[in-house]
Amino acid sequence: MTAELISVGTELLLGNIVNTNAAFLARECASLGLSLYYQTTVGDNPERLRAAVKQALERSDVVILSGGLGPTQDDLTKEITAEVFGKNLVEDIRTKERIQAYFDARGTGEIPENNWKQAMVPEGARVVDNENGTAPGLILEQEGKTAILLPGPPNELVPMFRKDICPYLHRKQPETIVSEMVKLCGIGESRAEMMIADLIAAQSNPTIATYAKTGEVHLRVTARAENEDAAELLMKPILKELRVRFGDHIYTMDERVTLEDAVAALLREQELTVTTVESCTGGLLAGRLVNVPGVSEVFKQGFVTYSNKAKRKLVGVKKTTLKEFGAVSDRTAREMAKGAILMTGSDAAVAVTGIAGPDGGSEEKPVGLVYIAAAVRGQTYVQECHFTGDRVKIRESSVAAALTLLRRGILETAEG
Ligand code: ATP
Ligand code: MG
Repeated sequence: MTAELISVGTELLLGNIVNTNAAFLARECASLGLSLYYQTTVGDNPERLRAAVKQALERSDVVILSGGLGPTQDDLTKEITAEVFGKNLVEDIRTKERIQAYFDARGTGEIPENNWKQAMVPEGARVVDNENGTAPGLILEQEGKTAILLPGPPNELVPMFRKDICPYLHRKQPETIVSEMVKLCGIGESRAEMMIADLIAAQSNPTIATYAKTGEVHLRVTARAENEDAAELLMKPILKELRVRFGDHIYTMDERVTLEDAVAALLREQELTVTTVESCTGGLLAGRLVNVPGVSEVFKQGFVTYSNKAKRKLVGVKKTTLKEFGAVSDRTAREMAKGAILMTGSDAAVAVTGIAGPDGGSEEKPVGLVYIAAAVRGQTYVQECHFTGDRVKIRESSVAAALTLLRRGILETAEG
C-alpha cells in the first residue's frame, strides 16, 4: 500500500518552523510497512492545496495531511479535502460537545465563534477525537482512496496518530516491517558494498541498504511480512550471510549499540584496562569512551599530549624519535602507546598523532595524515591513515580509527 504526506502551512514553506510532523509520520509509515513515495509541503493557499491533494490521491492509496485544521480563516485543509471528495460539511454533535467540554474544563469563558467551525466535518467522514486540542482528526475514504487529516501541533498530532491512526492503518495494511542494523568498522563503504553486490542486486524482501558513517558503515536489513515472527524468519539467512562475509568487521547487530559501547564491552569482557594518548584529537577519543556508562571499570585515564614536550614528559616519547621522525610518525605513535602502558600499568593503550589542519601540512606530511597505535597484551599495532575533510571531520575519523584499531588489537590477541 502506498502512502504520501502533505504538510500544510506557509510557516513550513518559509522555514519558520521545522517539519517535525513529516519526519515523525514518515518513520511511522515505514514501520507500518507502508511505501511512502512522496512528501509535499504546501502553503495556506486554496488552489495549490487543492492541486496537491488531487495529485496525491491520484498516485497514492493513503494521503496523510497535517496542519490547517484550526479555527482561523487560513485553515483550509478540511474544506479543500471535502471539496475534492465531493462532500458537504455537516455538524458533528460529538465534536461539538467535546469542544464545549474542552472549553468548560479550561474555564476560559465564552467560546470563540470560529471554534464551532471545527465541529463541521465532511459528510461520512470518520471523526477521530483530539484529546489535546479542539480540532478533530478526520478520515475520508472513497473508491479505495483514503485521506487522513491531522492537526498541526505535534502535541496533538503525535498522540492522535499513536492512539487511533496507527491501529487504523495497521488494520488496512496488516503487514509489518522489521529491520535490523548491522554495524561495521574497519572497512570502507565501497568495499563493503562490493562484498555484498550480489545480495543487493538480488534483493527484494529483505532489502539491504548501506549507510556511510564516519569511520563506519551501517547496513540496514529490512523485511516485510504478515507478522513480526515471519519477518524475523525472512531476515535470518541474510543476517547469517552478512556475518559470514564481514566477520569481525561487524561490531554489533544492535541498532542502539555504538562503536565505543562495543569496544568498552570488549574490554570489560576481556578484563582489560585501557589508556588513551591523544595529540590531534585532544581528548575526543577519551570523550567518546566516556560516553559509555560504567566505562570507569576499564578506562582509568587518558593523556592529552599536544606538544612535543608533553609527549616526552607524560608518556616518555624519545627526544631522538621526535627529532628524527617527527611528532606525526609511526614511531611516535608507537612510543606514545607503549609509554602510556609503562606510565599507568594499564593492559592496553591507544595513541593518536596526526595533522588535523587546515594548517601545518607539508608535501611529505599532508593534512589528514594520522598515525594510530594500539598496544594490547604486548603487541603493538600501528596504522597510517589518510583522512579527508575539515578539521572536525579529520579528528572524528581519527577517533573512529583509534577505536577500531584498539578493537582489532583486543580481538587478535585474545586467547582461544
Ligand atoms: P491550530 O488549531 O493550532 O491552528 P492547525 O491544525 O491549523 O492547528 P497549523 O495552523 O497548520 O495547524 O499549525 C499550528 C502549529 O502547529 C504551528 O504553528 C506549529 O507550531 C505546529 N505545526 C504545524 N505543522 C507542523 C509540522 N509539520 N511540524 C511541526 N510543527 C507543526
Ligand atoms: Mg492553524
